[in-house]
Amino acid sequence: MIGILGGTFDPIHFGHLRTALDVKLALKLDEIRLIPLRQAVHREQPGTPAELRLRMVEAAISNKPGFVVDARELRRETASFTIDTLLSLREELGEEEPLCLLMGSDAFNDFLSWHRPLDIATLAHLIIMTRPGQPTKIDPPLQQFLTPRQTTDPTELSTEPGGRILFQTVTQLDISATRIRAMVANGDSPRFLLPDAVLEIIEQEKLYL
Ligand code: ATP
Repeated sequence: MIGILGGTFDPIHFGHLRTALDVKLALKLDEIRLIPLRQAVHREQPGTPAELRLRMVEAAISNKPGFVVDARELRRETASFTIDTLLSLREELGEEEPLCLLMGSDAFNDFLSWHRPLDIATLAHLIIMTRPGQPTKIDPPLQQFLTPRQTTDPTELSTEPGGRILFQTVTQLDISATRIRAMVANGDSPRFLLPDAVLEIIEQEKLYL
């Protein structure tokens, strides 16, 4: 069973890595695939070239068993639609491998406005990462979509390739790439918010100044 976390990773930080590990441990995933996106669909474009963002992800997970980087979105010329990524993963991994698409509860709130949400939710399970003790606000159409698919039993995920939705509480880390970029621009050190190896690349390449 494979977990997928997409993002701009500009830069990757412990907010991505620890929460992904929480999900990996809770759901006994074999692997977390970090998929840096080329062009964002739902947000402003990353300022850092794809190759450097990829290098930072590679540095972050070097020698971390169970974490892999997947550059397929960077090789595509077009915007990074999740449905295309999942279809491409299915071609590679086959129809049977359970896939778990990780997303924050804020992303899930907008999920029905994504491109082909129903197909996404069939091709993969959705794992919604939540804050402990904070229920996600869900509007009626989303609730209608959620109810027939929701499960609280992680073992159910491994019996089907996709189609389920599970809420998973994760460690709360108030870290964002936006804040890290602002700190660097301001001359403040972001050390201990992200792996040292990533910080080294930021310094070498004079990113975010
Ligand atoms: P930015 O500040 O530039 O918007 P970001 O820090 O949110 O970036 P992204 O690469 O856009 O990072 O995020 C990829 C995914 O990781 C998103 O689903 C996002 O919700 C999640 N994520 C980012 N930071 C955290 C965090 N501190 N805790 C949990 N999830 C996070």
